[in-house]
Amino acid sequence: MQFQRLRLVGFKSFVDPAEVQIEAGLTGIVGPNGCGKSNVLESLRWVMGANSAKAMRGQGMEDVIFAGAAGRPPRNHAEVQLTIDNAQKRAPQPFTDSPMLEVSRRIERGRGSTYRINGKEVRARDVQLLFADASTGANSPALVRQGQISELIAAKPQNRRRILEAVSYTHLRAHETSLH
Ligand code: ATP
Repeated sequence: MQFQRLRLVGFKSFVDPAEVQIEAGLTGIVGPNGCGKSNVLESLRWVMGANSAKAMRGQGMEDVIFAGAAGRPPRNHAEVQLTIDNAQKRAPQPFTDSPMLEVSRRIERGRGSTYRINGKEVRARDVQLLFADASTGANSPALVRQGQISELIAAKPQNRRRILEAVSYTHLRAHETSLH
């Protein structure tokens, strides 16, 4: 499963529709402070089923919705859509034979989140399992936020060991999930 495109509408600072093409070899996002790099990474975790508002740097999940800015009123909903190439048919059933997967998550104020895969409404759990099967997901250690590498280098040996063990454990669990 190859991530191809990420679309954001009303998510955090991305009030207008924005599209990020995920070409082969893309490994990082750079840009000036405050331009929205972390928001892009968070939108990827969010569409994969992240359920901690704290991990989204908010108090509640609705804080991911565009909250307004000078001359722009706040929005009532946010949506993130991830397009995945499944040409190699690695997606689990019932999506194995779909050449493309469109996974989306939408949140409305007062109504919570709705998830869809190829237009069909599914549970958060279905989306989380889809990504767990592909050894990735909202908590994947492969998604490295800003400052995390320097934290790892600066960490005390015991703390570093704890982080590295958590990473191997996550990989092991993802592997076990895909074997079942
Ligand atoms: P830094 O380099 O400082 O970490 P960054 O490039 O990672 O910054 P982000 O932290 O992703 O940038 O984006 C920060 C911007 O997004 C800030 O201007 C913040 O006000 C804005 N922002 C975050 N959440 C919302 C929201 N719900 N509504 C509107 N703007 C938001």
